[in-house]
Amino acid sequence: MIESYLLKHLAGYIDGQWVEADSGKTADVFNPANGKQLAAVPYMGADETKRAIAAGRAVLPDVPDVDTRREWLEDTRDALLAEKEEIGRILCLEHGKPWKEAQGEVEYAASFFDYFAGTMADALAPETLPEKAKNCTWTVHKRSIGVAGLITPWNFPIGMIAKKIAPAMAAGCPTVTKPATETPLTMIAMFQLMHERLDLPKGMINLVMGSSSDIGGELMRSPDVPMISFTGSTGVGQLLIEQSKDWVKKLGLELGGNAPFVVLDDADLESAADNLIANKFRGAGQTCVCANRIYVQSSVYEEFSNKVIDRVKALKVGDGMDEDVNIGPLINQAGFDKVKDHVADALSKGAQLEAGKHPDELDASKSLFYSPTVITQVTHDMKCCKEETFGPLVPLIPFETDEDALKFSNQTEFGLASYVFGKDEARADRIVANLHFGHCGYNTGTGPAAHAPFGGMLQSGVGREGGHDGLMEFIELQTVPNGS
Ligand code: NAD
Repeated sequence: MIESYLLKHLAGYIDGQWVEADSGKTADVFNPANGKQLAAVPYMGADETKRAIAAGRAVLPDVPDVDTRREWLEDTRDALLAEKEEIGRILCLEHGKPWKEAQGEVEYAASFFDYFAGTMADALAPETLPEKAKNCTWTVHKRSIGVAGLITPWNFPIGMIAKKIAPAMAAGCPTVTKPATETPLTMIAMFQLMHERLDLPKGMINLVMGSSSDIGGELMRSPDVPMISFTGSTGVGQLLIEQSKDWVKKLGLELGGNAPFVVLDDADLESAADNLIANKFRGAGQTCVCANRIYVQSSVYEEFSNKVIDRVKALKVGDGMDEDVNIGPLINQAGFDKVKDHVADALSKGAQLEAGKHPDELDASKSLFYSPTVITQVTHDMKCCKEETFGPLVPLIPFETDEDALKFSNQTEFGLASYVFGKDEARADRIVANLHFGHCGYNTGTGPAAHAPFGGMLQSGVGREGGHDGLMEFIELQTVPNGS
């Protein structure tokens, strides 16, 4: 079982109190590196969620001013950075990612508190419009939208909540958060820090965990929750849209991806290969911005493939708590079996296995460590091109012309992240401008950052996180024409 001074309470947090599930039921949390139980946390449902929403609703009229809220953000940033090692350790144990990467995620989380603390006062100031239409002075106020429901996935246990709770707090929204069932401990640690170090009014932040459908259903049905910010799969996002039909809500949906990574023949191949490895194997390939389909122009296909294969063979897989490990385990058997299925499907349709193990040698019931795998001669009929693999698989697909690269990249209903590598900027720009993806890295495999809006097009979602737009998700504009 996990021991940590940041986990004094293995509990939910409602109306300023640490609470168990009404039923007394718990859910076990496991370390994916060894299958051992780390903790048992409350398994809550609709009633606890109703109380959390009511606590948020009750505090709404007393939410303090911008200056106080800015201090909360600064104090949270400082607390996260001061406790980076311990939070990183908890995160590594419940998620499996290498502990250095986990600590990087804590810094990433802190950067959202820092960004919104630094920009919120200006961003939230009312704006008087220069036009005096209809003999009035027109002022646009930025009002808090009210209680916000925040639902997060397991792949960034602290990064994803930071993107949501920092702007919500900045905007003055009380929140009800539901973490992923697989990774609630990092979130509990963050709530403990906020409970101890911030002078928050009761009900300002609430944490419920347990039945996804009961908690989610309650958040979606409640007229007291006008905004839901969700990150997760497109399937669950679509379900939430359906569930919100009886009460008009603002929905921020950060959903699945199927990222193309295009390597043009004039690209710096060394740099493109390094960027691919850093991008692809972060979180063992379990991130929404991970390159999923790697398109390489045929004249450099072999040279680039060899660079990638050499790098992949040098990667070290193991328990994230061990030194020098690059890749941890996958989160669970379903995730493992999906990667295995994608590799088996590609091999059965003619792809070549260049690095990694044959799927027949891998068995999730023995271990969730999946060997980083490279396959070549991949074609579009293979599952790894059509679906998000969410694991350590690099499928390399040759293409002939720039038009082909663009056509293949856009051959998906998803539109989250994409990448283009090539020296000729004007040429690359013509591709970038026509890609239907909300994020397009040019000569970089980097993902989002706190100061910039990030989000998907098409089936990858609606709304943006980060930057000014990320704050505005939690704001209602109120326009006041003043005729006096
Ligand atoms: P998921 O959709 O299974 O779960 C996400 C969250 O929703 C979890 O907290 C889960 O418990 C909850 N949930 C599940 N069923 C629910 C229901 N009926 N009602 C309410 N909540 C429910 O996704 P996941 O497996 O945790 O995460 C992986 C997916 O998330 C991938 O598709 C990935 O691309 C996507 N993702 C997207 C982004 C982005 O920024 N767009 C970021 C990270 C992950």
